[in-house]
Amino acid sequence: MRRHFPGTIIKKTYQSGRARNRVRRRHAKRMRRTKKDLQVTQNTFSELGLAEPIQRALHAKNYVNPTPIQAKAIPELLAGKDVLGIAQTGTGKTAAFALPILNKLFRHEPNVRSRGPRALILAPTRELAIQIGDEIRAYGKNMHLRHAVIFGGVSQNPQVNTLARGIDILIATPGRLLDLMNQRHVKLGAIEFFVLDEADRMLDMGFVRDVRKIANAVPKKRQSLLFSATMPADIAKLSGELLSDPVRVEVSPQATPVERIDQQVHHVESNAKIPLLADILSDSSLSRVIVFTRTKHRANKVADQLERRGINADAIHGNKSQGARQRALKRFKDGDSRVLVATDIAARGIDVDGVSHVINFELPNMPDSYVHRIGRTARAGASGMAVSFCDNTERAYLRDIERLIGNRLTVIGEEPAYQPAEKSSKPNNGNGNRRRNSGGNPGGKPGNNPGRKRNRSRNRRKFSGKSEGGGQRRAA
Ligand code: AMP
Repeated sequence: MRRHFPGTIIKKTYQSGRARNRVRRRHAKRMRRTKKDLQVTQNTFSELGLAEPIQRALHAKNYVNPTPIQAKAIPELLAGKDVLGIAQTGTGKTAAFALPILNKLFRHEPNVRSRGPRALILAPTRELAIQIGDEIRAYGKNMHLRHAVIFGGVSQNPQVNTLARGIDILIATPGRLLDLMNQRHVKLGAIEFFVLDEADRMLDMGFVRDVRKIANAVPKKRQSLLFSATMPADIAKLSGELLSDPVRVEVSPQATPVERIDQQVHHVESNAKIPLLADILSDSSLSRVIVFTRTKHRANKVADQLERRGINADAIHGNKSQGARQRALKRFKDGDSRVLVATDIAARGIDVDGVSHVINFELPNMPDSYVHRIGRTARAGASGMAVSFCDNTERAYLRDIERLIGNRLTVIGEEPAYQPAEKSSKPNNGNGNRRRNSGGNPGGKPGNNPGRKRNRSRNRRKFSGKSEGGGQRRAA
C-alpha cells in the first residue's frame, strides 16, 4: 500500500522566515528574468505520460512545453535509466529530475518498508536546496508526498523532528546531512533515487569526500542522476563511480553564460595592476563589480588599496567571520559598496543579480574557476563583461583557460611584447617566438612607458562596453 501522510508537503525549511523570504524573492526575480530566456520544445508535457496530479500542477504554473533538457531527460528517467545531465541553471534542469521522481514516488510502492526518505537530492548550497524544495512543493502540490530541506548553519532540532516524522524526499547539503547521519537521525536505507545537483560546484566547494560517503550509505539498487554545468575530468570520474550505465543528456542553453560575456584580457605587470584597476573602476558605468584574487591576503590588500584611492570596496574570504562576510555582501547588494573583492571559495556562495563586471585581478590557477568566476556576471539571461589581468607569471594560466573555453580572450591594450618566464614554456630563443610588439615595456618599471596612460583611458572606454567592435575578437 502506498503511504499517505496527513497534510501535504511540509512547508518548513528551517530558516528564519525573513531570510527564507529574501531567498525566495531573489529567486523569483531571477527566475522571472530567466523565463524570458527559457527555451522550450514543441513537445507537450501531456505527451510525456506524467501522472495526472503532476500535469495539473504544471498546468497551474502555465508550463505547457518541456524545455530541451526536460524533453530529453524525463523519458529516460521514467524508463528507469541513470542520467548524466549536462545543463546549467536556467535550463529547467530541476523539473527535469523532480518531475520523474515525483511521478515514480506517486505511482510505485516503496522498495522497503521504512519511514526513511525514498529520494535524496544533494545540492551544494542552502540557496539551491531551498529552490529545489520550492519546485518540489509546486510540482507535488496535488500529491501526498512529504519533503524536507536540510542545511547547516541553523539549529538541527526542527530538522531532526521532521525526519523523525517521516518524509519521502530529502533535499540536503552534504555537510549537515553527514552530521545527521552520524548522529543516526537520518537513514538512507530506503533511497530509490539519488540526485547530485550542480556536481561541479559541489566538487569546487570541497564536498567530494562527503558526497562519496553519502553515496556509500545509499542502497546500490537505486536510480542515480548527476547534473553538472561542466564536465571536467573529476566529474566524469565521479559519475563513473555513482552512475550505472548512464544516458548522457546535454543541452546548450540559448547562449551559455560564457557566450554572453564579453571577455577581455589585459597583459599587465603585477605591480601595475592596482593603478589599472583603480583606473578602470573610475568609470561609474561599472555598477557592480566583483574583483577576484587567488589569495585571502591579496583580497585584503586590494580592498585596502582601493579604499585608499577613494573606492568603496569590501573583501570577503575564508578568514572573515560569517558576520563580516554577510555585512560585506549586504553592502554590495544594497549598492553601498560597488566593489567586492573575493577569493574563489568565498565567491561560491555569492548569488547577486546585476553584477556588471567581473575583474580577475589575478587569474585562477584552475581554468574551471575562471568559468565560475565570470559566471557571476551575465546571470539570468543578462549580458556581462569579464576583464582579466594577466601578468608575466600567469601566462600559462591564461593558455589553460583559453584552451578550456575554446577561444581566445580579447586582448585589450598592449599585447605582451615578450615571452614570459614560465616554468613550462621553452626559453625564448628569439626565433620568431615573440608575439606582436606594440611598444610594450618588457621588464621596465610601470610608468616608464609613455603609451601606458593613453592606453589606460582607451581601455577604460572599452571596459565600460561603450566602444566595442573595432576589430576586437569576441570570445565565445
Ligand atoms: P532551473 O534551470 O531548474 O533553475 O529552472 C529555471 C526556471 O524555469 C524555473 O523558475 C522553473 O520553474 C522554470 N521552468 C522550468 N521548466 C519550465 C517549463 N517547461 N516551462 C516554463 N518554465 C519552466
